Amino acid sequence: MKYFSTQHQTDPVDLRTAVLQGLPRDRGLYMPEDIPMMPPRFFEHIHTLNFREIATAAALTLLGEDLEPNVIIPIVDETLTFNTPLVKLDDTHYVLELFHGPTMAFKDVGARFMARLMAHFMRGEDARCTVLVATSGDTGSAVANGFYGVEGIDVVLLYPSGRISPIQEQQLTTLGGNISALEIEGTFDDCQDLVKGAFVDKTLSETMMLTSANSINIARLIPQSFYYFNAYAQLKSRGVEDAPVFSVPSGNLGNLTAGLLAKRMGLPVKRFIAACNGNDSLPRYLRNGQFVPRPTKHTISNAMDVGNPSNFARIEDLYGYAHGFLSQDLTGWSFSDDETRAMMKTVYERYRYIADPHGAVGMCGTQRYHDDVNGNDVCITAETAHPAKFGDVVHAVLGIRPDMPERLASVLDKTKHSVKLPADLSLFRQFLLDRKP
Ligand SMILES: *Cc1c(COP(=O)(O)O)cnc(C)c1O
Repeated sequence: MKYFSTQHQTDPVDLRTAVLQGLPRDRGLYMPEDIPMMPPRFFEHIHTLNFREIATAAALTLLGEDLEPNVIIPIVDETLTFNTPLVKLDDTHYVLELFHGPTMAFKDVGARFMARLMAHFMRGEDARCTVLVATSGDTGSAVANGFYGVEGIDVVLLYPSGRISPIQEQQLTTLGGNISALEIEGTFDDCQDLVKGAFVDKTLSETMMLTSANSINIARLIPQSFYYFNAYAQLKSRGVEDAPVFSVPSGNLGNLTAGLLAKRMGLPVKRFIAACNGNDSLPRYLRNGQFVPRPTKHTISNAMDVGNPSNFARIEDLYGYAHGFLSQDLTGWSFSDDETRAMMKTVYERYRYIADPHGAVGMCGTQRYHDDVNGNDVCITAETAHPAKFGDVVHAVLGIRPDMPERLASVLDKTKHSVKLPADLSLFRQFLLDRKP
């Protein structure tokens, strides 16, 4: 299978090139040329399969032309060392908990898969490969963990100074080894621009092998489709046969794009809701057909603070640049921090469920859907982070502290190692050149 650039200014490439290069030279994003369907039979017995079996079937369908089963199966097995349980709040509202991985955010799934796939492609290469990651918080720690200790690969993380939670910062600055962290004096969009700038920089591309590990790498996007199938399977095993509505707390739109991909592969889904915080570029586009990115706004759901979401290019391409066609599958709303806090209170009071601020934005999406569109439809909200990762927000809103899982607590005492840099491409370039072995 070939992967094309959404800008269509470069030739399609094979999977290996798409994964190792990350971003096409024309600044588009890679997408599979055709999206294979799962056989209808798969959905008849999906509820009898476990997460790994479901993910293996989807991975073989998507990647089976390019990789042998004996490569795909271990990558899936090593990635999915945890489940994505579906928790019932009431008859029409379920929560898909995506935070049971090592860094307790949904990004573990994509990052672990990508690290293992890249390591597979790097085997037998002499050159080292440098993975650049701009992170609004959780990407960095998931990617850093996914790649930590992987032979032949160095990781450079860029995060916006003062805009991520203390735990997030500890998670990405304390690993050491093949992982370096850069604290950028700017926003997430500045970090993302630096990464994009590095990729099109001639000096850098001639001296080192650079690749990206943002949700823009196709190797992260593909595995994120797996848990949508797993959600459906769990719904079905509870005897619910409806095609669900998914409400996805959205920032750079990787998670949402992966859901749309799963639907294109045949997964029964009634509709997707893009649940956004005050960064509302996508909801505005869905209302008026104009995609006008705005500067990033700072909110309490900071991993979704993205003013110019990259994956919009993939979504547009998937729907043939047809606003009307996309609107049949996707609704989008933006919610304020006050609405998010009110939702955290409501779900806690009603269900004793502690939502993190990102999941709470998703729940706002579900509630709006039930109020304004159809109150009887079964909705699944993706809960993208463990509430303890945002313990200060939870405490300020609910007056309680979520239990801190050992996995999170252990990073707090470690020493932070990071380099502070202004958001300046030439300084970033110099940093990369200087650390070249
Ligand atoms: C990254 C992240 C999001 C947003 O996901 P996108 O794929 O960028 O839309 C939502 N919640 C949490 C906790 C995240 O870390």
